[in-house]
Amino acid sequence: MDRDLLDVEEHDEDEESQLRPHSFEQYIGQEDLKKNLKVFVTAAKMRDESLDHVLLYGPPGLGKTTMSMIIANEMGTHIRVTSGPSIDKTGDLVAILTSLEPGDVLFIDEIHRLNKVVEEVLYPAMEDYCVDVIIGKDQSARSIRIDLPPFTLVGATTRMGDISAPLRDRFGIVGKLDYYKDDELEEIISRTSKVYGMDIADDARNELAKRSRGTPRIANRLFRRVRDFSMFYGEKVISLERTKEALDNLKVDDLGLDHVDHKYLLGIIERYRGGPVGLNALAASIGEEPNTLEDVCEPYLLQKGLIRRTAKGRVATDLAYRHFHLEREF
Ligand code: ATP
Repeated sequence: MDRDLLDVEEHDEDEESQLRPHSFEQYIGQEDLKKNLKVFVTAAKMRDESLDHVLLYGPPGLGKTTMSMIIANEMGTHIRVTSGPSIDKTGDLVAILTSLEPGDVLFIDEIHRLNKVVEEVLYPAMEDYCVDVIIGKDQSARSIRIDLPPFTLVGATTRMGDISAPLRDRFGIVGKLDYYKDDELEEIISRTSKVYGMDIADDARNELAKRSRGTPRIANRLFRRVRDFSMFYGEKVISLERTKEALDNLKVDDLGLDHVDHKYLLGIIERYRGGPVGLNALAASIGEEPNTLEDVCEPYLLQKGLIRRTAKGRVATDLAYRHFHLEREF
């Protein structure tokens, strides 16, 4: 999956942590969510209680991990970070839960990928701060209850629909993260430019924001590439011309679509006469994973009005045809 490979290659913990906002004040955008969380965090602190469990959902790269770290920071507690697929056995989860300090935040990324048996350990942990463990085997097996300190579970998911109802119902606070507006991304880019000590011209910042598909992680990644181009040419300030050159070379178009989005849209248009086509058939025909298309490409293409999801499958809209200067065949 190309985008993931890019993320892995470029993942640099130091750079990441430098860029991460540490407080609600520094966190740009997502105003409604931020406002609500501020109230809930302040009230929990006034009662000297741990914050109720929080479920954050939305497309990748919009700041769910960052927000969970801010919650821990603002609560004045520590955070433990893990993910659904990395918790294999119930014992793994019990070990994490029993090592928490009172008030800690436990962040589980991709919580929809927890297996069912592990998930069931979470129910009493979330509700009553306890876990039941079985010790011994066969005849001598017995269940003992272990009390846990009060803690806050923050779950993050790109797939709200895949979270089981019993798990979803145990979160007292549910927040959706939306794609960022261009002016918010511009603010994020300004902050990134300060952190990296590399100035960017106003029109270049505007262009970069427009082409970052509403996503801070992509804005930061593209900023690094544009910075490389400018440094290569010995320029001290990132210009519009250089930004356009770098983004064109990276095959990021003026709507922020990249080569995977292009393959997706042109796949529907050229191989399926604009659709409808089922996700699996489309994914197989363009050599991508259906999950990547569903989680990463489709939310943005839907938001931009380039595709529609119908009962019969995905359909490219007139806007998609216009984007590629193509005529619809009848
Ligand atoms: P995923 O769900 O794929 O893990 P995420 O939604 O958790 O992604 P983060 O890792 O929190 O995304 O954010 C990606 C990057 O974007 C981080 O480096 C962070 O610095 C930056 N970022 C995210 N949100 C904001 C924001 N609101 N303001 C400033 N920077 C942000």
